[in-house]
Amino acid sequence: MQIARNPALADIRVEDDRTGLSIETLKRAFLDNLFYIQGKFPRLASKNDYYMALAYTVRDRLLQRWLSTAATYTENASRTVAYLSAEFLMGPQLGNNLINLGIYDAVKQAVEELGLDLDELLEQEDEPGLGNGGLGRLAACFLDSLATLEIPAIGYGIRYEFGIFSQGIRDGWQVEITDKWLSRGNPWELARPEWAVEVKLGGHTETYTDEHGQRRVRWVPYEVVKGVPYDTPLLGYRTNNCNTLRLWSAEAPESFDFEAFNSGDYLGAVYDKVTSENLSKVLYPNDNLSQGKRLRLAQQIFFVSCSLQDMLRILQQQQVPITDFAKKFTIQLNDTHPSIAIAELMRLLVDERGLPWDLAWQITQNSFAYTNHTLLPEALECWDLAMFEQMLPRHLQIIYEINHHFLEAVRAKFPNDNDRVARMSLIDENNGRRVRMAHLACVGSHAINGVAALHTELLKQDVLRDFYEMYPEKFQNKTNGVTPRRFVLLSNPRLSKLITGKIGDNWVRHLDDLRQLESYVEDASFREEWWKTKHTIKEELAAYIKQHNGITVDPYSIFDIQAKRFHEYKRQHLNAMHIVTLYNRIKRNPNIDITPRTFIFGGKAAPGYFIAKLIIKLINSIAEVVNNDPDVRDRLKVVFLENYSVKFAQRVYPAADLSEQISTAGKEASGTGNMKFALNGALTIGTLDGANVEIREEVGAENFFLFGLTAQDVYALRASGYDPSHYYHNDWELKEVIDRIASGDFSRGDRNLFQPLLESLLNWDTYLLLADYRFYVDCQERVSQAYRNREHWTRMSILNSARMGKFSSDRSVRDYCRDIWKVQPVKVSLDKQLF
Ligand SMILES: *Cc1c(COP(=O)(O)O)cnc(C)c1O
Repeated sequence: MQIARNPALADIRVEDDRTGLSIETLKRAFLDNLFYIQGKFPRLASKNDYYMALAYTVRDRLLQRWLSTAATYTENASRTVAYLSAEFLMGPQLGNNLINLGIYDAVKQAVEELGLDLDELLEQEDEPGLGNGGLGRLAACFLDSLATLEIPAIGYGIRYEFGIFSQGIRDGWQVEITDKWLSRGNPWELARPEWAVEVKLGGHTETYTDEHGQRRVRWVPYEVVKGVPYDTPLLGYRTNNCNTLRLWSAEAPESFDFEAFNSGDYLGAVYDKVTSENLSKVLYPNDNLSQGKRLRLAQQIFFVSCSLQDMLRILQQQQVPITDFAKKFTIQLNDTHPSIAIAELMRLLVDERGLPWDLAWQITQNSFAYTNHTLLPEALECWDLAMFEQMLPRHLQIIYEINHHFLEAVRAKFPNDNDRVARMSLIDENNGRRVRMAHLACVGSHAINGVAALHTELLKQDVLRDFYEMYPEKFQNKTNGVTPRRFVLLSNPRLSKLITGKIGDNWVRHLDDLRQLESYVEDASFREEWWKTKHTIKEELAAYIKQHNGITVDPYSIFDIQAKRFHEYKRQHLNAMHIVTLYNRIKRNPNIDITPRTFIFGGKAAPGYFIAKLIIKLINSIAEVVNNDPDVRDRLKVVFLENYSVKFAQRVYPAADLSEQISTAGKEASGTGNMKFALNGALTIGTLDGANVEIREEVGAENFFLFGLTAQDVYALRASGYDPSHYYHNDWELKEVIDRIASGDFSRGDRNLFQPLLESLLNWDTYLLLADYRFYVDCQERVSQAYRNREHWTRMSILNSARMGKFSSDRSVRDYCRDIWKVQPVKVSLDKQLF
């Protein structure tokens, strides 16, 4: 609100078109943006024009808060979290911004009064799919929680021109379609070309003596790439704190263009420009796999160097001395992807700012903390040393120097233990020389954390054991969480309304308050409402499935959902084996009494991961047979929902009765899908893996379907010489499942199609499906029995939601703030004079 300046009008309050929140003002601003930004009048405007006009209307309201936030943080030179992540899987922005601004209902009414439907406009938004799965989504949840908790923070990453591919399904196979998410423009970002920086690549190093007689190193690069920041404002829930997601886009620097141009090599200059731009062209679509590709390393140094230079610029702008770098910034490394930052900050401090090594090292260690995300050996990044040296010659020298100091410390602590020294070295000398990024991250950080209690224990005992013995004080656990704003309030309005009607809306910020629902568990009418709400949401998903897949599903059946990346360790094929087991039982006795189920799958496979793609094909092949066999009588349905994404996740999690969290124990670091399901009232069938362990502790063992080997059992079984064929020969029902898949019954008689998958299971079974099969199938039988008692099931469902408070990302972020970041909230008010 602004007071009109004309004294004659002193009592008239005029709402500003760019900040006002009343329905009338929102309507006027919306039409204004349609006219002046989209350049359309209503009769010619498309749905996308309307979406864009609304997005700009909302962005204007964010900008007021964003600038107030920037002004406040700058004035206070606030300590700031810099969250470095190669992935941010943000999801659509419009709905979340409406929720956090508190204008969802007002905007809904405003657009209705203009004859439009908000849901249709929300549907228009192409989400920025700048991540693969859980790791990128965690970064996004943390940014929402940071702003909500009023913590100064910047998310730093890459503005990939093509995000994760769109998945299509053709003849049951996954096909990949490039994700042109920017093609219709991105209303949420602002380019900041004035803060562009340059990143060097390749070339060689030289030593020289500076004016103080100090020996210094200078890096003469082969090429230079320009990084241009694009900023997206991220508003907290009902706070004025609007933090920044700063993503770097690669461009050719003008100076390089001109040189080539003057020499007459016009096409060469254009070629260089194109290759520079390749750096931020596409997200690597691998989840939990490092391929060691050169372009990927280039992407990492690119965004890391841009981000560190940006922090140095901010430091200078706020007149903070360089020696206080670690007081101004606390930098979190989201996995090893940005861990080259440790060498890069050393280079910036020592080579470019002339700091002595020891001081620079102290600043560096005080600045960084490292989150490990995986126990899978193939996901640990190691770079071929020759390639690394070619691209980053100076960084390799710095890593050698760090390694030298580090290994001396190892020898001092563990004398005469050369094996240990070789195991811990930053350079792996055994597999063709390679640079071990996880080791660099451990040495250069003051804190190292796993993402669930079990994961952190396994890091300490196994993957990072040597580092735990070296630096026990660095290790801590920070169990993951998810934001209840996006994953309940926005995505599940029906359940949110029911909950808020009972306990008020404090749970949105204080998720522990959901505990108050426990007192309604014995209230039969509340249970009835809960069940009906879930049922309505299931009907909505059923309608979506009918529309998109042409399959009729029964909303009274168990909605049994597995939605996550396709990976052998996540064992979607174990789920498929259960489906075939039930199918076999029906074929043997068509009149068998079976609890109806709808099996729903969603998820992408990495394009180069053949077995994961074959598992998708298997599920679709089973679906084709099961869904159309008259003997089944519609009691089982199998549905594959294509193109799993955040938009999609928001539709799927609320509709689940049963959440499949069935990874091989010891393989899933945490999981966050497990949290989103349970929070929305799904029961979990799961192994003792990742955060499942803690979810079960919270919701109670009696409200969780546990099965299978423990991580210890897995180690012991492997050590004793695991023979999968033993299980095949000793469990006739298992044998029948494998034999039917092998027979061609699901592949129109083709007996070869699924052989690679079956051979791998019978000969190696790396992820122990056959060992867990019987436990799993029997546990599923308990699920089926439990579902028949609607009252009992509903009690368990309510208790799952009620007891999930721990898994809010607000709790995770508070834990990081307290134990690692040592950062305090900063209040932002809107009365600040900005002009
Ligand atoms: C939560 C989420 C994930 C992570 O799921 P997991 O089951 O923990 O692997 C992956 N993708 C999307 C889109 C998500 O929302």
